Amino acid sequence: MLKLKKINKSYKTGEFKQHALKDVTIEFRKNEFVAILGPSGSGKTTLLNIIGGLDRYDNGDLIINNQSTKEFDDSNWDAYRNNCIGFIFQSYNLINHISILENVEMSLTLSGVDKKEKKQRAIEALTKVGLKSHIHKKPNQLSGGQMQRVAIARSLVNNPEIILADEPTGALDTKTSKQIMDLIKEIAQDKLVIMVTHNPELAKNYATRIIEFKDGSLISDSKPIKKKEKNKEEIHIKKTSMNFLTALNLSFNNIKTKKGRTALTAFASSIGIIGIALILSLSNGFDIQIDKFERETLSQSPIIISEQAMSMSEENIAKVIEDNNNLEKYPTDKKVFVQDDLETTMMHTNNISNEYVDYIKKISQKDISGISYQTATNFNIINYNEETGYQLVNSTTGLMPWTLIPTKEDNTSEMLETNYDVLAGEIDTSSPGLILQVDPKNRVYASTLKQLGFTSEDEVDFEDILNKELKLVLNDDYYKKVNEFYIPNQDLEALYNNENSITIKVQAIIRGKEDKEILTSTSAIAYTNALTDIVIENNKGSSIVNDQKESDYNVLTNQPFTEDETKETILSYLGAETTPVAIYIYPKDFESKDNIISYLDKYNEKKEEKDTIQYTDMAQMVSSLTGNIMNAVTIVLISFSAISLIVSSIMIGIITYISVLERTKEIGILRALGARKKDITRVFNAETFIIGLVSGIIGILITCILLVPANILLENLTNLENVAQLNPLHALILMIVSISLTLIGGFIPAKLASKKDPVEALRTE
Ligand code: ADP
Ligand code: MG
Repeated sequence: MLKLKKINKSYKTGEFKQHALKDVTIEFRKNEFVAILGPSGSGKTTLLNIIGGLDRYDNGDLIINNQSTKEFDDSNWDAYRNNCIGFIFQSYNLINHISILENVEMSLTLSGVDKKEKKQRAIEALTKVGLKSHIHKKPNQLSGGQMQRVAIARSLVNNPEIILADEPTGALDTKTSKQIMDLIKEIAQDKLVIMVTHNPELAKNYATRIIEFKDGSLISDSKPIKKKEKNKEEIHIKKTSMNFLTALNLSFNNIKTKKGRTALTAFASSIGIIGIALILSLSNGFDIQIDKFERETLSQSPIIISEQAMSMSEENIAKVIEDNNNLEKYPTDKKVFVQDDLETTMMHTNNISNEYVDYIKKISQKDISGISYQTATNFNIINYNEETGYQLVNSTTGLMPWTLIPTKEDNTSEMLETNYDVLAGEIDTSSPGLILQVDPKNRVYASTLKQLGFTSEDEVDFEDILNKELKLVLNDDYYKKVNEFYIPNQDLEALYNNENSITIKVQAIIRGKEDKEILTSTSAIAYTNALTDIVIENNKGSSIVNDQKESDYNVLTNQPFTEDETKETILSYLGAETTPVAIYIYPKDFESKDNIISYLDKYNEKKEEKDTIQYTDMAQMVSSLTGNIMNAVTIVLISFSAISLIVSSIMIGIITYISVLERTKEIGILRALGARKKDITRVFNAETFIIGLVSGIIGILITCILLVPANILLENLTNLENVAQLNPLHALILMIVSISLTLIGGFIPAKLASKKDPVEALRTE
């Protein structure tokens, strides 16, 4: 069943070649106790290692079941060691950091026997060697003789057909040696036992066959197999594999023996994780704050559609920044470079047609808290005061025509209610009038006061403003036709007192609410919707407007239209039409803002770029800018921390390498028990996995602890509560990063470990 045919093996050390086995031919019986006898250095161990598949022969053949092993691959050898061979070594070779039971179970673990059966068989084997009561001890808690018994139990547990023992009593005293030899002899009753010894006494007393070696050659065999003898029994080989849990358990036990080092390593490699986690927490926190700020405050800032829109898309912002960065500053070249026109890159001309105004009017009422239009409609208003007399105010003299549209049944606007306090008077947009908005310090521009008919005084009482009467003059009174010309009536006093003139007053004085300061910090004046309607209604039928509609020249100058003029612009100047130059849409809240924006975007769908209507969303601009800056800062900081992660990966590599060196013996033992190279890699990957996991956990825990003082500090600096928050998803990702990096760091040492020669590994101390 087991036959060596002209086996040769030599070792090269530098120039020197040691011929350890020379043309060794032996055939073994299925059941005998063979002693290999010979002086030290005669090649006994080498022979045993070759029989056991731990070492490879140079030439000749090892025949198992009449089958040559020349074609055996690694997995065949691993399986052969695991289920056909039981090793017993002079120095016991137990794994010190796991229990005796687990040591004995190991070859069953490697061949995938289930837990219950494994334990039962291991206990059985340990009982057989008389160690039943010691199964939970660690190897170093036993005497030498007891350790060798464990090794014997381990060699028996998988019920192999061949037991290989290399000087099993070499390290034991005479009395213990005898007990061990008796035990081995008992085993030899139904197995093939091949025992190496340099003690002829032992060989004679116990073995059934003695083979002597000298200088690598067989010199005598007491009981060679005769030609006629039948020796044809089969050995069966089953493949082995260690699962990751076993590897994890093995490494976990190993790590437990060096807790301090593991903890320090894990802590050191967690520093990078802590850095990144803190930065992510902060940036996440600021994102949340910006979002909150946007929701609470900026969501009600208007979406502005004006004739000239800045397209402040991120793309455009990037373009501007890039433009600045692309070219060298203060170049020495005596050249002028071309820059993209701002107009073409960032400015977009919106053609706010009546069709678009109708589209805007269809925005769902539940999304908006107010809309105001800035129109090009010209109003002629005359004011009076005793000092300066009568004064004309219209668009050429600077009155800003904002028109407020009511959104509520009581003719007020929700936008006004949420954003403004009414300081005096009462708003009623259904009646013609003005609304005066003051700034947070109750100021208005001097020019505005002048338009309302006050001289440049320092202060004016609310009462006086509300009582001030202004007169709106309509076209038929204002324009007089003289010959072919229309000329404005210069007699302001007569116009002021004309019974057709409409009296208008400032209905109310409003001021932006304190918490809405960003939106309402400037002073302004607005018209009610009703006022605009009256002007349009009356002027539409005026004779100047009728004439203008029919004529192809400008009735005000009696000249053909100039380049900037069209019939519409003149009509609009004459107050016969409202063409909005800007529309302000005030959303109710964050969600309605989204709705409005998608409604506005829908208009632009499938339109050519020049026909689209671009809007400006101040809130989005503010937050996307701050968001971009935050992202940039975050990336820079994370890159710094990433360096410490790389450093810790390298450190893990070194630590794992040290661990590989420390566990070399264990590698040898595992290989002798039939572990595959892959299994060895797994053991060390498991070790780095554990370190990575622990360092991830430490990193996240320390971050959570550090967030407490960080938030207190931030609260003192910014008045914002709980800014820094670790997103659980980020925590999870960082754990995975930590594990991956340590696995990468430990990968090379783990591969090196698997490549170790098992024979050499076993020889290390
Ligand atoms: P024994 O077990 O009989 O004492 P070994 O089989 O260990 O002898 O060694 C046989 C010869 O081969 C010795 O001369 C030894 O020095 C040499 N030898 C064994 N293993 C190696 C090795 N890995 N490298 C170099 N020489 C070796
Ligand atoms: Mg030896």
